[in-house]
Amino acid sequence: MSKISENYTAVKQRIKLASKDANRNSLPKLLAVSKKHGVEKIKQLQQLGQLDFGESYVQEGVDKIQQLEGLPIVWHFIGPIQSNKTKSVAENFAWVQSVDRMKILTRLNKQRPANLSPLNILLQYKVGSEATKSGASEQEILLMIEALADMSRLRFRGLMCIPPPSKDMATQRQYFTEVLQLYQEIKKKNPSVDTLSMGMSGDLESAVLVGSTMVRVGTDLFGQRGA
Ligand SMILES: *Cc1c(COP(=O)(O)O)cnc(C)c1O
Repeated sequence: MSKISENYTAVKQRIKLASKDANRNSLPKLLAVSKKHGVEKIKQLQQLGQLDFGESYVQEGVDKIQQLEGLPIVWHFIGPIQSNKTKSVAENFAWVQSVDRMKILTRLNKQRPANLSPLNILLQYKVGSEATKSGASEQEILLMIEALADMSRLRFRGLMCIPPPSKDMATQRQYFTEVLQLYQEIKKKNPSVDTLSMGMSGDLESAVLVGSTMVRVGTDLFGQRGA
């Protein structure tokens, strides 16, 4: 078995075990974060059955999407978005998980091509306030949700978060629980909401335990970036 295939089996097993511990009857989706890894590795993982891939840099992501055209892959943009890059994102990706301000939302809605299905949107919530750079406050999130109701080229699917890194599981769970509470409130009022994207290589067990519906794993699938 190749290294990637071993990693894939191990990550899926971790997700299964954590879901079992949490008495969950549905497994969270796995997003393979392929930033800084080449298209050969993506192809390998896709052939093993992986469908969803995430990229953090617009040009790098678009290059890979073009190189892998024709393969059944759902592409997610998960990195910081500058407003001069929204057009590329709107034209090439199926999901954007990292929307944290109104200006970006408005531009994505204008720029999503009419021949494509609506762009799936997660709003990035800033959890653990001080230490995190990107993400919107609860108040900003609620304003963006109001605006989303009139944006026909976007489909609001839920929240994403990147808490400050911590090795302590109790701290990890505390952050994720804060996000879960906001997610549940939002979900009650928004029937299209079905996705809570949280958990990475280092904290996926805590995220799955708390109720994540999508984990984003890079390192533990592909190895160290730049290695
Ligand atoms: C890089 C990245 C990940 C994956 O992180 P790993 O620790 O390598 O699993 C997940 N989410 C986002 C937003 C990222 O930028």
